[in-house]
Amino acid sequence: MTIFYKFEGKMYINLTNGCPCKCVFCIRDNADSISGNDSLWLEHEPSFEEITAAFETFDKKGISEAVFCGYGEPMVRADMVVKTAEYIREHSDMKLRLNTNGLVKLMHPDFDINCLKGLIDSVSISLNAPSAARYNEVTRPSFGEKSYEVMLDFAAKMKEFCHTAFTVVDIIDSEEIEVCRAIADKMGIPLRVRAYVTDNESYT
Ligand code: SF4
Repeated sequence: MTIFYKFEGKMYINLTNGCPCKCVFCIRDNADSISGNDSLWLEHEPSFEEITAAFETFDKKGISEAVFCGYGEPMVRADMVVKTAEYIREHSDMKLRLNTNGLVKLMHPDFDINCLKGLIDSVSISLNAPSAARYNEVTRPSFGEKSYEVMLDFAAKMKEFCHTAFTVVDIIDSEEIEVCRAIADKMGIPLRVRAYVTDNESYT
């Protein structure tokens, strides 16, 4: 069961295959893994004991950043993200990044994002679309169109205490990307445009 894996010199953390979205570009529809790693489909959601045991045996030499990403939305297990981040902080000097769809408020209404303060160094949030309607088409969240505003609000709050970036995948057209850029600029958040890939890229 692959809980930790390497990608582009970083250590990626795969805590869940759960996700409330069904993005049209999701790599999970096309491949079982990325960059030659073992399958990222989990036999079960790993316990904290399984996570720490896997962390201890993982070859961490030369790795300076850990990324919560994996084959699913990490914040489906928000409490486990926090617990794992605290453990990695205690047992390494790695920087911690969270790749997320930004919908934790809908998945876990009681989760206080302030507990990520001082714990997560940077967050990458899938902006994905220039409007709530298009977001609903591209990301297909189970919560419907209200998700877009929730995601933007999450980004604004995270920006107050950690480095925050947006991503879009270039399956939307260039005019839509420019609207996304304007939204990101207005919020003072950098935007990264990712190329649509099917078998060798991280996807959140
Ligand atoms: S790309 Fe990420 S947010 Fe979208 S369906 Fe896949 S795992 Fe979920």
